[in-house]
Amino acid sequence: MNIESRLAQIGSNCDPDTGAVSFPIYHATVFRHPRLGQSTGYDYSRTKNPTREVLERTAAELEGGDGGFACSSGMAALQTVFALFSQGDHLIVSLDLYGGTYRLLEQVMRRFGLTASYVDTGDLKALEGALRPETKALLIETPTNPLMMITDLAKVSAWAAERGLLTIVDNTLLTPYFQRPIELGADIVVHSATKYLGGHNDVLAGLIVSKGRELTERLAFLHNAIGAVLSPQDSWLLMRGMKTLALRMERHCENALRIARWLKGHPAVETVYHPGLPEHPGYEVQRRQATGNSGLFSFRVKDARMVEPVLRNIRLIAFAESMGGVESLMTFPAVQTHADIPEHVRRAIGVDDRLLRLSVGIEHVDDLIADLEQALDAAMRETGAA
Ligand SMILES: *Cc1c(COP(=O)(O)O)cnc(C)c1O
Repeated sequence: MNIESRLAQIGSNCDPDTGAVSFPIYHATVFRHPRLGQSTGYDYSRTKNPTREVLERTAAELEGGDGGFACSSGMAALQTVFALFSQGDHLIVSLDLYGGTYRLLEQVMRRFGLTASYVDTGDLKALEGALRPETKALLIETPTNPLMMITDLAKVSAWAAERGLLTIVDNTLLTPYFQRPIELGADIVVHSATKYLGGHNDVLAGLIVSKGRELTERLAFLHNAIGAVLSPQDSWLLMRGMKTLALRMERHCENALRIARWLKGHPAVETVYHPGLPEHPGYEVQRRQATGNSGLFSFRVKDARMVEPVLRNIRLIAFAESMGGVESLMTFPAVQTHADIPEHVRRAIGVDDRLLRLSVGIEHVDDLIADLEQALDAAMRETGAA
């Protein structure tokens, strides 16, 4: 079945007893045993919960994996995946990665002896250079944000497999609707489902999908042992959001590309980073491995003094730091999402004091452009650039 149909029908055929089209929320944390040595399949909700299970099965199917695990946030999903590794192990991680992942690796996991090197994972030479005898896995974001760097997943996961490394992909930005890393060779996919999968800025959630029996069993053990699982209520809310994922992603993609093209022509804007623009260095790879682009991209204004008035003057677009919801948001990565990344690292990759990130929602594109136009024009007037 096509992915649009599978998404719309999430949970609708899973409750044969009542025929409920919207799968029920099982708040129960504990389940009776019919008799000694027997179980209904559910014992205690940290291990398995009927509502969460429908979401987890769906996630595994959508990503083409063998097991799905729903966690209390994207960070909880990453923490659970990092627990696969031991003291002394080393990871190679995408440069320009999500600030919270960097913080977890550097300020928490490092204390437990897990270290990471940050490179452009799209560059095989850089990967070779970072490889050590104790390297166990690659952690890739593609596109990264805010700079939208692209990694060729088929090429890089083949490189990793030849060296016995796991390939882990954070697929938050594109979702399985546009990109399925496991089909391209990845072993594990993680999501902050808080973003596009949930889609409405109202549920915090994370997902892990794994390929292969052994890895799936290890993750099932860790998911239960660590216990950072998603609640039944939030599992339901996430599934409800995912039913419209296909429609939302199409609109995010279309709106963002229109706005990116428009911004390129604005006198206040120096550079636009959007992988759907032919001049973007990752354009060809992105077209090959993904069927569309998210609503996220960034742009650099010509003068750092314009940033404050732009953020003050946007009205329809909210100045807020998340992404992936139906409402458009703008953020200033250097002081918000990427504040935990040291300044010299940020500057080296280009997350500087002129870079703004847009999460384009599903509003009418003309209204979004009108809002950006008045904010950019005001910023030019205030800084005397007009
Ligand atoms: C938001 C985000 C995370 C963290 O997810 P939470 O749900 O906020 O814990 C991880 N990776 C990426 C790419 C993200 O955007």
